[in-house]
Amino acid sequence: MSNPGTSVAGERAPIDLAAVRAETPGCQAFIHFNNAGASLPPRPVTDAILQYTAREALAGGYELAETAAADIESTYDAIAELLGAQRHQIALVENATRAWDMAFYGIPLAEGDRILTCRSEYASNYLAYLHARRRCGVRIDVIPDTQAGDLDIEAAARMMDRDVKLISITHVPTSSGLVNPARALGQLARKAGCYYLLDACQSAGQIPLDVQEIGCDFLSSTGRKFLRGPRGTGFLYASDRALAEIEPPFVDGRAATWISTDTFELRDDARRYENWEFNHATRVGLGVAARYAATIGVGAIWTRVQALARRLRERLSDCPGITVRDRGSTRCAIVTFTCEGHSAGSLSDVVRASVHYYNTEEEVDCVAEALEKSLHPMQ
Ligand SMILES: *Cc1c(COP(=O)(O)O)cnc(C)c1O
Repeated sequence: MSNPGTSVAGERAPIDLAAVRAETPGCQAFIHFNNAGASLPPRPVTDAILQYTAREALAGGYELAETAAADIESTYDAIAELLGAQRHQIALVENATRAWDMAFYGIPLAEGDRILTCRSEYASNYLAYLHARRRCGVRIDVIPDTQAGDLDIEAAARMMDRDVKLISITHVPTSSGLVNPARALGQLARKAGCYYLLDACQSAGQIPLDVQEIGCDFLSSTGRKFLRGPRGTGFLYASDRALAEIEPPFVDGRAATWISTDTFELRDDARRYENWEFNHATRVGLGVAARYAATIGVGAIWTRVQALARRLRERLSDCPGITVRDRGSTRCAIVTFTCEGHSAGSLSDVVRASVHYYNTEEEVDCVAEALEKSLHPMQ
């Protein structure tokens, strides 16, 4: 893989834009502002997947899995590095929802236990809370926002009591520029001794993450969003405490070993949350994507996407009839807005545009101008 940037891990060296765009075939064809849905992958990611698939066709899937075991294994290292974790704490699964489910449905919850979550929680996660409430009578408590739209950490602190068994929030919501205070909640969770599950789907690859600093027991994410990896890939981090205490909600031959007719043993690493069959080619691609992000530097990525998103918000705010909807004091690469005359006030009328580091200032201006023209065609 080529070196698209000049940064050393942790430093915020500028990104070599010409190089990363030259390695992103999709951005030559059109302006892609749906990075929160699925980013355009860089060529090394696509190449790795295509090459692995071609080798599989020639060697056989099981046979290549043996020869190429090191390539698959290196993905665990790449994801561990991305999160400041160790390789035994990483599970690789088919998407972020499955990763999150393996954590959530493994946590023992009983009637009267409380789950603390945030107003901007991901819909599927909230469905799982409702499911748990119906099945076992847990209470779901939503932490309020401050006037500025941030999660109110002081209110969260006041909500803590012995019944809170789980704090479970989304770091960056799917449809807003908000960034929730993941670390501050981690401190609350540690103080209370409750479990802490963080949905980092939109933050992995966009914002530097360090599970030690955040203090979470579980962190789930996906490959295809800001990490620029393939679709159908997800991963889960589990802390050593979680590994010691939380069993997977279901087990198979991957998660456990059948010892004798009546006994089995769960794996003691995070692969207890995996299942046996998976797409090897995309798993290799996910590792390439994580290493690609590391080479550029997630710190540098975070600096650049904030600047691009800020520019987009400014340009849109200048357009008559467009209202930027993002709230909160830290704003990320996801920009949301409504257009006058195209809005009935419902959530589905909010438009989401999400930039990535390979996007350019010119693209931002072009999109803002095009929107303005479409709203005011006579001018
Ligand atoms: C996209 C998203 C998910 C789901 O990820 P999948 O890989 O599609 O399962 C979960 N949470 C958030 C916040 C997301 O944006």
